[in-house]
Amino acid sequence: MRQRELDALMKGLEKLTRTQRQRLVAELSVGERKAASVEVIERSLGDTPCCPHCAAERVVKNGSADGLQRYKCRACRRTFNALTGSPLAGLHMRGKWLDQAAVLRDGLSLTQAMERLNVSRPTAFRWRHRFLALPKGVRAQALIGIAEGDETFFLRSSKGQRHGMNRAPRKRGGKAEKRGLSSEQVPVLVARDRSGSTADFILDADDSDHIVAALTPILAKDAIFCSDGSKAMAAAARKMKIAHRPVNLSAGIRVIAGVYHVQNVNAYDSRLKDWLRRFKGVATQYLDSYLGWYRAIDRTPGGSLNPASLLAMAVRV
Ligand SMILES: [Zn+2]
Repeated sequence: MRQRELDALMKGLEKLTRTQRQRLVAELSVGERKAASVEVIERSLGDTPCCPHCAAERVVKNGSADGLQRYKCRACRRTFNALTGSPLAGLHMRGKWLDQAAVLRDGLSLTQAMERLNVSRPTAFRWRHRFLALPKGVRAQALIGIAEGDETFFLRSSKGQRHGMNRAPRKRGGKAEKRGLSSEQVPVLVARDRSGSTADFILDADDSDHIVAALTPILAKDAIFCSDGSKAMAAAARKMKIAHRPVNLSAGIRVIAGVYHVQNVNAYDSRLKDWLRRFKGVATQYLDSYLGWYRAIDRTPGGSLNPASLLAMAVRV
């Protein structure tokens, strides 16, 4: 808007009734929140955007569309913006995206999210999983020094799926009918080193081969691996040729030589399960989203996890 037009607009403000002024304030606030989202999204591209279609770096600015800077790739001639190819592409109501990120920070249930965002359940659900599509893949790339591993189990659940149920519905968040490990339980391997780097893996089967496949890429060759000494963990450590300090908890041993224990990973497991309780059981097909969500919260203790960084993480890793 030109300065002259703005001056005229400002002058007109004096004539507003109270109701009109409130309407204007509400409208400006929506616009401001949208602009704040756009700023985070644009910044995620960095200083040298590259083409999401062909990865070329020779790109030029090419106008704007839908409030976002548009770029044109000199190599493949196609256009893109900061959301092209991201999990958030195609979602509406950008003005509410920072609020959606705050919903993730605060760990709200779907019903609470619908109320805070004033959106329908399908929208709250779609946003949740689109926002978590990238964080669910973000886990520690390397565990060094003393690394603790533990297997923990989640009740298999087809919550929210109307088709393909192969058994009678169970009350939400119920208990397994069989005790211990069974097809009703989903094994999750959690590994954490003493710096707090954490990786977790949903295992197809609770055996040493699956543990080896998960840990080999991330466990440093000279790491010292602590576990509860289960058969599978011991066999996995042997196969990986990694130093292993099994802690025999059932024999009342908690710490070996003052440093080897699994207390950090066990504490992580119980914080994770405490946090998950608010969702009253999560569908197994979305368990990875929830695990990634909690890892993101856990990575930034002390409340430094802000909506802007969560939004940036949802757009680009
Ligand atoms: Zn290109």
